[in-house]
Amino acid sequence: MAQGPLHLPVSFPIFSVTLFLPLQIVPMIVMKFGGTSNRDAASMSNVLRIVSAHLSHRPVVVISAIAQATNELEKSARAASAGDVAGATAFVDRLMERHNDILTHLLSDPDRIAGLRVVLEAHRKELVNLIQGVGILKELTAKTMDAFCSHGERLSSRIVAAGLQEAGVESVWIDAKDFMLTDDNFGRALPLMKTVVEKVEQVLRPPLEKGIVPVTQGFIGVTRSGAYTTMGRESSDFSASIIGAAMNAQRVQIWTDVDGILTADPRVICDVRKIKRMSYEEAFELSYFGAKVLHPNTMLPLLEKNIPVEIRNSRKEGGTGTVVDLPAPSADALPMVTSIACKEDMTVFAISPRTRLNQYLFWEGILSVLNRAGCAAGSISTSEYSMALAIDGNADIEGLRLQLEEHGRVTVVPGQGSICIVGKGLRGSSGVLDRIFAALNDAKVTMISFGASGLNVTVVLAAADVETALRRLHGEFFGDHGASDAFETPIN
Ligand code: ADP
Ligand code: ASP
Ligand code: MG
Repeated sequence: MAQGPLHLPVSFPIFSVTLFLPLQIVPMIVMKFGGTSNRDAASMSNVLRIVSAHLSHRPVVVISAIAQATNELEKSARAASAGDVAGATAFVDRLMERHNDILTHLLSDPDRIAGLRVVLEAHRKELVNLIQGVGILKELTAKTMDAFCSHGERLSSRIVAAGLQEAGVESVWIDAKDFMLTDDNFGRALPLMKTVVEKVEQVLRPPLEKGIVPVTQGFIGVTRSGAYTTMGRESSDFSASIIGAAMNAQRVQIWTDVDGILTADPRVICDVRKIKRMSYEEAFELSYFGAKVLHPNTMLPLLEKNIPVEIRNSRKEGGTGTVVDLPAPSADALPMVTSIACKEDMTVFAISPRTRLNQYLFWEGILSVLNRAGCAAGSISTSEYSMALAIDGNADIEGLRLQLEEHGRVTVVPGQGSICIVGKGLRGSSGVLDRIFAALNDAKVTMISFGASGLNVTVVLAAADVETALRRLHGEFFGDHGASDAFETPIN
């Protein structure tokens, strides 16, 4: 964890000697608030209260779009590309109405409200121009989709910055465009870290050191030529960790609508428990296999510097959340299973080559199709001459099928889901597979793999069986005999 004085190298060219001089950098934290914390004026006023209570930690605040805003912006863009300009504009008008409603109930200073209404109107006009352009061309590129989606975070962060000012907190709104340089893979851009590190020092550090709270956007970045990019759906968590790593934060806090990382999705299982602490690797596996609470990339910038991530509930006072950091030194106290993630919308592709020559080229061909489509397989299993892939249902299934047909005979199995059982204690433990198979009972299993990390067992099964199988597995590992100090009962 980065704390207190950092030792930065200073070069003296005459003697070519590198000395290490202590440079005092003020400790700071990153606080990210997701759409669930920015749903309406009441939840946003919680955000203001929480930030105000953390001023002594010098926060940089990262804000997602208000709940559902990105979905609505995507719908607007799609309606425009289908030629439905009126429908696309109606989505935007409703979204502007929601923002107007929030700022009217959150703020009371008439000048501040009027100023924000001018900002809203400018965003509306920009969106209407985009709609008209897309409506004429009837073409929607990933670049244009990012231009649409960028408005969600740009608007919500304006309201939070104004709310903090009204609450007497000195704060400044900062456009992620001024520091979050990314590549130009629109829709799934990645940060160019070296430049981001330089730019955050120029843009975010100076206000912070004056005691001013910078408020910026998650999810969005910018190309070298100045176009907005996005880093993938749900990636505001990733933005927070990029900023945290770039600024050597003491910790990154992800404020959301649950008490922390839980033993399963509370929307599916009611007697979930909260996990007090877990490793970066476990959190990565869980989020990759469907636990929506964190974006999988969140851990990547932080683990090298061992900057902890705290997942906290913005709706409740007093929780301690879950801390994600390096694994505990001893594996003895670990429960065998930490948590179980699931997905209910997957498709399995089974591919076998038409000739049995050159297995490596066959595999390479399949992986290159996935790579070009920007599509990661949830699970892969191979037998001597065939390969099965479980792919998220939001991928272009028909496009993938056509491309995979070039490499072999393809069978598509729709209506699949997956369950991923994660835990450091799974490595080398005996009897765990028996318990998993017993709990799966008569579920229709398509694939099963003991993940290469040794941290997970992933089962691909009929989507209709996911919920029942999850309940049985949760009961098996977190019922009476799963009690452990590693867990807590959630606050309510
Ligand atoms: P935000 O808008 O704050 O980013 P998200 O909706 O992206 O919030 O993530 C929080 C949601 O993640 C929770 O409401 C919960 O339903 C879901 N979730 C899925 N799996 C888990 C899990 N293992 N632990 C906690 N939350 C989970
Ligand atoms: N607003 C974006 C989305 O809904 C990013 C995020 O919420 O993390 O995908
Ligand atoms: Mg999220």
